[in-house]
Amino acid sequence: MVRIGVFICQCGKNIARTVKTSEVAEIASTWPGVVHTEDYKYLCSDPGQNLIKDAIKQHNLTGVVVSACSPKMHEATFRKAVESAGINPFLCEIANIREQCSWVHDEISVGTSKAIDIIRMMVEKVRFNHPLVSINVPVTKRALVIGGGVAGIQAALDIADGGCEVVLVERDPSIGGHMAQLSETFPTLDCSQCILTPKMTDVKHHPLIDLRTYSEVVGVEGFIGNFKVTIKQKPRYVVEELCIGCNDCVDACVFKKPKVPDEFNEGLGMRKPVYIPFPQATPQVACIDPNSCIQLKTGKCKMTCAAACPKDCIDFEMTETFEEVEVGAIILATGFKLFDPKRIPNYHYGEFDNVYTSLEMERMVSASGPTEGQILLKDGRVPESVAILHCVGSRDRKTNAWCSKVCCMYSLKLAHLIKHSTGADVFNFYIDIRAGGKSYEEFYDKVLEDNVQFIRGRAAKVVDWDLEPLENGKVVVHAEDTLMGHRRRIPVDMVILSVGMEPHEDTAALSKIVNCSVSSEGWFLERHPKLAPINTMTDGIFIAGACQGPKDIPESVAQASAAAAKALALFSSDELTRDPTVAFVNEMNCIGCFSCERVCPFGAIERYEIRDRDGNLIRTVARVNEGLCQGCGPCAAICPSKCISIAGITEEQVYAQLGAV
Ligand code: FAD
Ligand code: SF4
Ligand code: SF4
Repeated sequence: MVRIGVFICQCGKNIARTVKTSEVAEIASTWPGVVHTEDYKYLCSDPGQNLIKDAIKQHNLTGVVVSACSPKMHEATFRKAVESAGINPFLCEIANIREQCSWVHDEISVGTSKAIDIIRMMVEKVRFNHPLVSINVPVTKRALVIGGGVAGIQAALDIADGGCEVVLVERDPSIGGHMAQLSETFPTLDCSQCILTPKMTDVKHHPLIDLRTYSEVVGVEGFIGNFKVTIKQKPRYVVEELCIGCNDCVDACVFKKPKVPDEFNEGLGMRKPVYIPFPQATPQVACIDPNSCIQLKTGKCKMTCAAACPKDCIDFEMTETFEEVEVGAIILATGFKLFDPKRIPNYHYGEFDNVYTSLEMERMVSASGPTEGQILLKDGRVPESVAILHCVGSRDRKTNAWCSKVCCMYSLKLAHLIKHSTGADVFNFYIDIRAGGKSYEEFYDKVLEDNVQFIRGRAAKVVDWDLEPLENGKVVVHAEDTLMGHRRRIPVDMVILSVGMEPHEDTAALSKIVNCSVSSEGWFLERHPKLAPINTMTDGIFIAGACQGPKDIPESVAQASAAAAKALALFSSDELTRDPTVAFVNEMNCIGCFSCERVCPFGAIERYEIRDRDGNLIRTVARVNEGLCQGCGPCAAICPSKCISIAGITEEQVYAQLGAV
C-alpha cells in the first residue's frame, strides 16, 4: 500500500508570501494515500531535512513529495535525505511551487490554488514511482581546454599537474591570448610577458598536455565523462614537429620588407606572409598566411622560404586535417574580443592619425612592441598631451550596457606609463572610476599623485584641428564636465580609446557545438550566477575566464583553477554515477522499425539481434545504451508500438499527473 508524505516549504517568505502553506498541507492530507503532511520554514536546512527523515520512519512512508523550489536547486539534497532514512531516493519527487508558482503570482488565492494543483500532480506521480538504481558509467580521465589565453593555460596546467591528461586547443598559431599582448599589468605593474611566458613554456613541455595550436573544435558528441571531440587542424604549411623556429624562412621570403599588418602588434607593425607571431610565441613554429603568400595565392613564387629552411619543413601541399579525441570534461576558455570603436563615428578611430585603441597603446608601450616601448605620434614626435577616453563601447545602451570592468584600471595603468615615459599632460575622461579589486584603489591613488588629470564626463566627440584651427596640429576632445557643470574642450596630441570587452562573434556557434547556453549578451552562460558560476547547464562542461563576461587576469586565473578543480574532482573516480532516468525498450513489443534510432539526438539506440538457441536470427530490436541516453524522450514519443518508456516518467505517470489537474 502506498503511504505518501507531503512536505511543504515556506522558503522564508519566498513561498509563504503568496501560498498559504498551512492550508495546502491541510488539503493534501485529505488525498488518498497521503498519510502525513507538514509545512515548515526551510525544508532544505538540517532541521528541515531531519523532519522529513523522522516522518519517513515514524509513518513508514513509501513515497515523498517535497513542495519547494525548483528541483534544479535541491532535488539532490532531498533525495539524499530520503535515502538516508531508508527509502529509494527516486521515490522522492519535487513539486516546484516557488519558481513556477509563488514567484509568478501576486494574489494569495491564485498562488495557493496553483500550488495545490502542482502538488497534487506530484502525489499522483509518486503513487506510480518505482525504486530506481543509479547507473555507473566509466570516466575518461582526460580534459579538453578550448582557448589558450591565460585562463586556458592555467586550467590546462592545473589539470596536468593534478596528474590527468589535457588536450589544449587554440585557434591562433600561438597560445597567450590577450595577456601576451599587454605591456605591464595593473596594479603591480609586472611585465605581462615575463609572468606569462614561463607558463606558456610549461604548457609546451608538460608531458600530460597535448597542445594543438592553429586548431578548432568542430564537433562534440557524448556526455559527462565520455565526450567525443572532433578537432580541425588548420594547415600551417610548416611541419610543426620539424620546425626549429630559426626564422630562416622569414628572412628568405621574397617579400623583402614586411607588408602584412601584424596581428600581434594590432596592425602597428608589419610581418611577412611567413612569420612567427611574436618572439615568445608558443610553439616557436613558423606559419604561412594563405591570404598573403604568393605561392598559396597564385602558385607562382620562387619559394625561397622553402629553399632556405634547414629542416625542409615547408609543405605547400598541406591541407586541413580532422582528428577525434575522447575526453571526460571540457573547459571553455575562449576569452573576449575588443569593441570596434569605428561603431562610434564621433571618435574618428581609423580616420584621425593619432587616435588609438587601448590595446594598440599596450603594444606601443611594450618594450617588445613595434616602437620598442617609445610612445610616438605618427610624425615621430613625442606627444605632449594625451587624452584617455574611458567606457568606449561600455555602459552605453547604444553599444553595450555592461561595464567592461578592466578598462578603468588599464586606463589608469596607461596614464601612469605614459606620464612616466613622456611627461605628457594626461587627461582621463571617465564616468566613474571602478577600482574594486585588491590594491586597485591604492593604485588609483598613486596615479592621482602622478598629476594625471581626471575629467568626470563621457567624451562626446573628438574633433579634427581642421575644424578648430586654433589648436593646429592637435585633435580636440569635447566633453561635459559633470563635476564642474560645464562643457570642456581639451586639445591633445593623442587620443586613446579604452575599448570594452565583447563576446566573440562565434560564441553562439561554438555553444551549439558543445551544447551550452549563451546569455542574451552573447557570453557563455553559467549554471547559476552565485552557486555554480563555473558550471554550464551541461554536466562536465565548465567555463573559465573572460568568455563568461569581462574579467581581469587575477579573476580569470582564479576561475580557471576552479574549473580545473571541478574537472579533477570528476576524474577522481573511475566511474560516474548517473541519474537512472533513461529510456528502456520493451523488446517483446518492439517491431524493429527503428524510428527511435532516427530521432535520438545522442545516438543511444542500438540494434540488438534476438537469436534462437541454434543462433538463427529471430528479429532485430531496439536497445538503449544507458551510458549515452539522456532521458530526453523523443524515442518514447515516436515509437509506433509504444514500447519505449523513460524510467521514472512512464506514460502511466504522465496520465496520472494530467488526471490530477
Ligand atoms: P583571452 O586572453 O581573450 O584568451 C582567449 C584565447 O582563446 C585566445 O588565445 C583566443 O585565440 C582563443 N580562442 C578564442 N576562441 C577560440 C576557439 N573557438 N577555439 C580555440 N581557441 C579560441 N587585466 C589585468 O589583470 N591587468 C591588466 O593590466 C590588464 N590590462 C588590459 C589591457 C587591455 C587593453 C585589455 C583589453 C585587457 C586588459 N586586461 C588586464 C584584461 C586581460 O586581458 C584579461 O583578463 C585576460 O586576457 C582574460 O584571459 P582569457 O584567457 O579569459 O581570454
Ligand atoms: Fe621553421 Fe624552417 Fe622556417 Fe626555420 S626555416 S622557422 S625551421 S620553417
Ligand atoms: Fe535517445 Fe530516447 Fe535516450 Fe533521448 S531518451 S537519449 S531519444 S534513447
